[in-house]
Amino acid sequence: MPNMVDYEKTYREFRHQVPEYFNFARDTFDVWAQDPNKLAMLWVDDFGNERRFTFKQFSELSKQTANFFNSLGVKQGDRILVILPRLPEWWVIYLAAIRAGIIFIPGTTQLTSKDIKYRVETAETVMVITDEDNAAKVEEIKGELPVLKHLVIVGKREGWLSLNEEIAKFSPEYEAANTKSDDPAIIFFTSGTTGYPKMAVHTHASYPIGHYITGKYWLDLTPDDLHWNMSDTGWAKAAWSSFFGPWICGAAIFVHHSVGKFDAKKTLELLAKYPITTFCGPPTAYRVFVLEDLKKYKFPHLRHCVAAGEPLNPEVIKVWKEATGLTIRDGYGQTETCVLVANFPCFEVKPGSMGKPAPGYYVSIIDDEGNELPPGKEGNIAIKVKPERPVGLFKEYWKNPDKTAEVFRGDWYLTGDRAIKDEDGYFWFVGRADDVILAAGYRIGPFEVESALVEHPAVAEAAVVASPDEIRGEIVKAFVVLAPGYSPSEELVKELQEHVKKVTAPYKYPREIEFIDALPKTVSGKIRRVELREREWAKKLGKKK
Ligand code: ATP
Ligand code: MG
Repeated sequence: MPNMVDYEKTYREFRHQVPEYFNFARDTFDVWAQDPNKLAMLWVDDFGNERRFTFKQFSELSKQTANFFNSLGVKQGDRILVILPRLPEWWVIYLAAIRAGIIFIPGTTQLTSKDIKYRVETAETVMVITDEDNAAKVEEIKGELPVLKHLVIVGKREGWLSLNEEIAKFSPEYEAANTKSDDPAIIFFTSGTTGYPKMAVHTHASYPIGHYITGKYWLDLTPDDLHWNMSDTGWAKAAWSSFFGPWICGAAIFVHHSVGKFDAKKTLELLAKYPITTFCGPPTAYRVFVLEDLKKYKFPHLRHCVAAGEPLNPEVIKVWKEATGLTIRDGYGQTETCVLVANFPCFEVKPGSMGKPAPGYYVSIIDDEGNELPPGKEGNIAIKVKPERPVGLFKEYWKNPDKTAEVFRGDWYLTGDRAIKDEDGYFWFVGRADDVILAAGYRIGPFEVESALVEHPAVAEAAVVASPDEIRGEIVKAFVVLAPGYSPSEELVKELQEHVKKVTAPYKYPREIEFIDALPKTVSGKIRRVELREREWAKKLGKKK
């Protein structure tokens, strides 16, 4: 049974308890580890290998690792960059860093030498930990980085300390650093959907305590669940749903270490094969799942599905529900925050809406002057930070007071996203502020038009952007990836335009449609509308928007 709490009451009454000192490894994780048999992770790879880890094993491995880090002179407040695929060591290092008060910075394995250099330099990291596949990229730039003192590898390589060989030399006893709740604990790079990634600093409370809401109320986790979150280790989403969310609740996590690219069939097979009870995938993955023959699969253990990271098209919710009986519950948040707005299991989903505010946050729609807007009016999604700052909010952008000041305005934290709240308190995502189209005096959010297009059987994916137009200022232009079996034609353009006019307000229909093989995306699979927009403006006007 899902957690059928009374939403209104929980929302009104919920308060996090934040002590002055808090260390997640000691104060949360090790409490679950008191049960020596409690499963923390079921790990599988593409070659049929399976490994199981208990909370106790992770606790001890992380203590050995913390001892090893300290022996190198890496200490509380230092920063380390960890670039690993989904290997169990990633979780061990994460816990060890928190335990020792060392600031953990995750990076995706798709980082280039240049990206790594930028990260090491700006965050002044004293150690990089990576695997054999990525070590050469670090070696290429190591000579230019005097701040980088230690190279540690999962595996073996000359010039590198082998993590597993080293930690075997250390004791599984460790007294955790007595970290203050407000001390920095993790630095995340944002996804870089709109531009260069920003470095968001989280504290020993903001994610480690704030994600209680994510785990308990949105992911709906209990100590008996096995939760699978697909996201790459490099992003904040892994901290949400593969680390803090589940482990705060004592749930076990399922990890699939894949060597190749995302494979929808393989993912569905794993979901059918293992006793996974709750699942979190990005909308981009669900959009591919619904193109598969879902009738072929049975998911006997699965009871709850969520999505986050991008808006989730209603059509995808519908098809998934028809096939599995389960409603995908969309959740909205950012690297800078825990879950802010979501479709919690205790209330009905309105397909296409992100749901209602998470307990612990006052979320509102405000105009550019900071005034709250009534239901039905589009505005900025903002979080109230005065008189009380919500626990799950990041501390600041790393060494970037200007950027930090841009998003904290008066009583509010501005997300940079636009939405509408309806009379029932549900939030409807319109788009990132920069993605909203201004056509002949109308404001048009890309998401609604994209969702209308995706409802058509010929459309696998769509991205809608502003294209310059002499008369209207901007027009709606859609880039469409066709579903298998369809090919581009003038008739199809007309058909899609008519379809959009029918399912949404006619003025929103795309006056131009271009068929494209694939949409530009971030490493984490988010559509980069900014790229399409810039291409479009350069093509038509010879300049950027
Ligand atoms: P950058 O800030 O570097 O441009 P990013 O904003 O994509 O990248 P993230 O912090 O990973 O980096 O993503 C948060 C953003 O993703 C939100 O601000 C919002 O625009 C979008 N988003 C996340 N979840 C949802 C959702 N459920 N519905 C709509 N949009 C979402
Ligand atoms: Mg962002």
